[in-house]
Amino acid sequence: MAIAGNLAIIRGKIAAAARRAGRDPAEVRLVAVSKTKPAAAVEEAARAGQRLFGENYVQEFTAKAREVREEVEWHFIGHLQSNKVKYLAGLVTMIHSVDRLSLAEEIDRQWGRLGAVCDVLVQVNIAGEATKSGTSADALVEFVRSVAARPHLRVRGLMTMPPFFDDPEAARPYFRELKRLAGIVAAGNIPGVTMAELSMGMSGDFEAAVEEGATLVRVGTALFGEREYR
Ligand SMILES: *Cc1c(COP(=O)(O)O)cnc(C)c1O
Repeated sequence: MAIAGNLAIIRGKIAAAARRAGRDPAEVRLVAVSKTKPAAAVEEAARAGQRLFGENYVQEFTAKAREVREEVEWHFIGHLQSNKVKYLAGLVTMIHSVDRLSLAEEIDRQWGRLGAVCDVLVQVNIAGEATKSGTSADALVEFVRSVAARPHLRVRGLMTMPPFFDDPEAARPYFRELKRLAGIVAAGNIPGVTMAELSMGMSGDFEAAVEEGATLVRVGTALFGEREYR
């Protein structure tokens, strides 16, 4: 019950933020971040109408994906080790966290074995934080070019995680910057690359992210409650 209620509140806030920015709320998809939460929580959200879920930890995710009985779609949003990509192939429809060429090459290899193409987002570390993954803004266009050259990857946009702030307004410049960077990449007309998706905004700041152009917001705590571990 709590999940259905939270979901309705979040959806309402997304729609209101989109309208404030003159956007169609349908342009924004909610990624329900279910890391550390049980399959039952995913099923509860699914029964309340949520279809898209985001996960961070490969082992936890693959076990959960086998357990969930509802029809759902999964995105992988967390830091990804290349040797674990093989477990994701065919299970996720998008990877938000492509941050280095060796990872892109492994995704290409594993999706290639399926004869499929993986939609990916390139993660950008706008603040240059040592503790966060992502390519630098300076290296972005060249990096996208290298990733896009892989036949079994399709670059659909960018993802970022700003530094943590208590005040959501403090994150806004990072969202604005991701949108600006997407414009620069798009202007490069790199074959096969679209900048259709901007994955930005979490529980504390998704409304600001939507106002700044997010098409995918990744919300965990506000939907499922606090996480007990990790
Ligand atoms: C955990 C996580 C989220 C969700 O964070 P909340 O603050 O719980 O909404 C979003 N994005 C990524 C990459 C995460 O790891």
